[in-house]
Amino acid sequence: MKFYNLKENDEQVSFAGAVKQGLGKNQGLFFPETIPVLDNIDELLAMPLVERSVQVLYPFVEGDLTKAQLTEIVTSAFNFPAQIQPINKDRAILELFHGPTLAFKDFGARFMAKCLQVFSKDKKITILTATSGDTGAAVAHAFHNIENIRVVILYPKGKISLLQEKMFTTLGGNIETLAIDGSFDDCQALVKKSFDDRELATTIGLNSANSINISRLLAQVCYYFEGFAQLSRQKCKAELNDVVVSIPSGNFGNLTAGLFAKALGLPIKRFIAATNANDTVPRYLKTGQWTPNATVATISNAMDVSDPNNWPRVEHMLKSGIVPSDCISSVAIDEEQTQSTVLQLAKLGYISEPHAAVAYKALQYNANDDEFGVFLGTAHPAKFKEVVESILGQPIGLPKELADCASETILSKDMAANFNDLRDYLLLNDH
Ligand SMILES: *Cc1c(COP(=O)(O)O)cnc(C)c1O
Repeated sequence: MKFYNLKENDEQVSFAGAVKQGLGKNQGLFFPETIPVLDNIDELLAMPLVERSVQVLYPFVEGDLTKAQLTEIVTSAFNFPAQIQPINKDRAILELFHGPTLAFKDFGARFMAKCLQVFSKDKKITILTATSGDTGAAVAHAFHNIENIRVVILYPKGKISLLQEKMFTTLGGNIETLAIDGSFDDCQALVKKSFDDRELATTIGLNSANSINISRLLAQVCYYFEGFAQLSRQKCKAELNDVVVSIPSGNFGNLTAGLFAKALGLPIKRFIAATNANDTVPRYLKTGQWTPNATVATISNAMDVSDPNNWPRVEHMLKSGIVPSDCISSVAIDEEQTQSTVLQLAKLGYISEPHAAVAYKALQYNANDDEFGVFLGTAHPAKFKEVVESILGQPIGLPKELADCASETILSKDMAANFNDLRDYLLLNDH
């Protein structure tokens, strides 16, 4: 299938082109030229995850991947479950954090890594990315040991938790990590400068692997189908046609993937886009004015985004009628409500974390009595151990993935927030 640039519609690329390029001209996002309507949803829901995901994804990758290649990619990328857990008779969580770095970003990052491995052939690629935590870990693990792909991850030294740091700085091999003396914004600025430096970008084959990459979004479509497949087998109230999905949102990639799933024919009734105090979208849907404020820090920090980069895709789907224009409502949840919701869920017997709590609370505000609310569990509570323990007043256990890396050695190099230093490093160490 062809993908076109939402800003410069004449620019059209194949799936492989969109994956390798990431962003189009003039910072435009790539979008599929058509989203097919699948007419065999019941049949798809009865299939196992891998077989179903291949069926859902194949129209998008046809021409660049054979069905056999796609099957191999999906099999190795989705080698962990997405799981529906009932909370009570009206609510269930779709847990997306059973992958190697305990966050939903494992689905997209692993699928993208396997695709790039096929598309890069013998050409060397350098993935350069800045992280404030979760993305770095997902990208590092997804690309670890993939031939011909070098990964360089920048993060603000001393500004992420030790466990978060250990999750991506201890791998070695093709994963290089730089502890930058500066803030997350400094790291992002360095990455941006590197992409603007055309000579550097072509010499080392730069790619960002960030969440605007279409391959990451397409991978995420598959877990909405998996969630519905499990709901359709369970005896809880879930009348499939009354399911509302609440999504804890930052860059709105997860919502974009959900809208794709709905457009493909999955009977999601509607969506609630839940945000923290970074509420540009809920304000926009109310007033029609796009007025991002300065980003504020919250305990659901993976959603601390005030100018979400996937919004143009959402807007396009609403305006062009790919999905009904009234299928999204949006609610902002403040810090106090987030904390009390983590406690409330614990009383119901479910240990959550701030991101899932934001989505659960939004259901309480927005879902009707005749609707069944599913909210997305985007990260394992242990990734936010300090916050969760201080809210609950009791210790929570560490899963094996985190416990294992806690004793490993950090392999990062320290670097000043200086572009020339980074440039020299990237060129000198390129081999
Ligand atoms: C990245 C992230 C989000 C936000 O997802 P978007 O697709 O950017 O909206 C929510 N929760 C967690 C734990 C995340 O890591």
